[in-house]
Amino acid sequence: MLRRFRLEEPETVQEASQLLARHGEAARIYAGGTELLLVMKEGLAHYERLVNVKKIPHLDEVKLTDGFVSIGALSTHRQLLFSPVVRRHLPAFAGMEANVANIRVREVGTIGGNLCFAEPHADPGTLLLALGAKVIAAKNTGQREILIEKFFVDAYETCLEPDELLTEIRVPRLPARSGVAYLKFGYLERPSVGVALFLSLDGNGKSVGDARIAVGCVGPTARRIQEAESLLEGKSVDEASRLIAEAGAAAARASQAISDLHGSQDYKEHIVGVLLKRAFRQAVEQCRQRVEG
Ligand SMILES: Cc1cc2nc3c(=O)[nH]c(=O)nc-3n(C[C@H](O)[C@H](O)[C@H](O)COP(=O)(O)OP(=O)(O)OC[C@H]3O[C@@H](n4cnc5c(N)ncnc54)[C@H](O)[C@@H]3O)c2cc1C
Repeated sequence: MLRRFRLEEPETVQEASQLLARHGEAARIYAGGTELLLVMKEGLAHYERLVNVKKIPHLDEVKLTDGFVSIGALSTHRQLLFSPVVRRHLPAFAGMEANVANIRVREVGTIGGNLCFAEPHADPGTLLLALGAKVIAAKNTGQREILIEKFFVDAYETCLEPDELLTEIRVPRLPARSGVAYLKFGYLERPSVGVALFLSLDGNGKSVGDARIAVGCVGPTARRIQEAESLLEGKSVDEASRLIAEAGAAAARASQAISDLHGSQDYKEHIVGVLLKRAFRQAVEQCRQRVEG
């Protein structure tokens, strides 16, 4: 049962941060509430004050800038799925959003809430790692930019300070001749394995320039797997495609997969390899089609 709490309704990031600083552990940010209220209803946690951030203007905007796509932390999954900017400039992100949760959760659940809750079985963090995203954390006294790699610390733990809010996600615009694929597999409500791959081809389109590989859901946090990336970088596309099974094995080994309700460690590691192989084919195809930046 949900115990009584007080709802605070700040209208600026500064006010929200001050409330968090003043009330410490007794307060939590409330965005869509899809995670928070479940935890509170189950009696797993109780907060005396919920700081509803939905009245703070502009935090749900999605904008295109010269260098990146700016996604407000309060954008809902549904908004991102249908955003013309996201669909045009980050189609893999829109595709990922189409398969997050269910229609009810997508309608109210926010991207910020997803990232800040840091549930291991979540999709966006894995894809954002492969996209080379940064996030903006703001508090009363200013703001800082954090690489998404540094944001996730452990299961249910981020590097946000207690009085900080996540306000924005910055995703670099895709260069020409690049491709992105996110593939997941699961049979429970949330995914068991997620694999994301960003690939760019060099000027003549024959060899791999940059590769970013991320694996999520299998262990405590989503992670970049540089060992697997370096197997592909600088190789001709044919050679990289011959090495993709080896890259999959390296990604599986480094993914810190654990056995749980979603599958055994061996099983998850096997699926990582299968998904990476498919993601590679998709990303190469996109690289060849995507000539403009
Ligand atoms: C049935 C179900 C199925 C789901 N399936 C999937 C799935 O397949 N894939 C997937 O990726 N996710 C899945 N989810 C998770 C879903 O994406 C999240 O519940 C949702 O995005 C959380 O957003 P929210 O705004 O409701 O967060 P809230 O519940 O409001 O907040 C979650 C946590 O984040 C904190 N927080 C929220 N916003 C901020 C902020 N701006 N700054 C700092 N802290 C903040 C809150 O204090 C709280 O601790 C599922 C959830 C449910 C309930």
